[in-house]
Amino acid sequence: MSARRYLVKEMFGPTLQGEGAHAGRAVVFLRFAACNLACTGCDTDFDPEGAVRYSADEIVARLRELDTGSARRVIVTGGEPTLQWDEPLSAAIRGAGFIVHMESNGTRVPAGTVDWLTVSPKPQHHPASVMLADDVRPSELKVVVDDTVDEAVLERYEARYPCEHYFLQPWMDDRYPQTLAKTMALVHARPRWRMSVQLHKILGVP
Ligand code: SF4
Repeated sequence: MSARRYLVKEMFGPTLQGEGAHAGRAVVFLRFAACNLACTGCDTDFDPEGAVRYSADEIVARLRELDTGSARRVIVTGGEPTLQWDEPLSAAIRGAGFIVHMESNGTRVPAGTVDWLTVSPKPQHHPASVMLADDVRPSELKVVVDDTVDEAVLERYEARYPCEHYFLQPWMDDRYPQTLAKTMALVHARPRWRMSVQLHKILGVP
């Protein structure tokens, strides 16, 4: 068993997956601290300040405790979860019967097994030292729509990331009405793409 201790911002649940093809499913969340990007308008608190280091065994014990309905499905997110995800932690969580979903910005290939990978690329926010990783094979792609996203961008993503599920999600900043209208137009122009709503925000669940 690995002696590594992972920097975790929070674990919570039971709740619902809010986005993408599994929206509405009963899940628990594992949110790692830290990210390798600093996107304008990021709505997630992944600040290492206040985060706690846990062993794989401690993480599994807490996830089991939170998973009161034994749904055994965990959303692993951040920050950027691939900064810390490794095979020993994957083996421990999956060994406890959890299906692992991961939500990544696509800049790193996950170093441990995941069952469902959501990639949400944000190259418009990359510093010069960071690029989208080759050999990332998402189960679903989720593009957050802002001024930089257009049909040509979506076409390039379809070529780069062949997968079954393509989602567009309006960035919920102070220009939300405009980005919502743009997202609707893109869905109509490229119907392989579906609107992803942030169900958890509509329902008011964490
Ligand atoms: S990659 Fe995601 S978590 Fe990291 S700064 Fe950007 S929006 Fe926030």
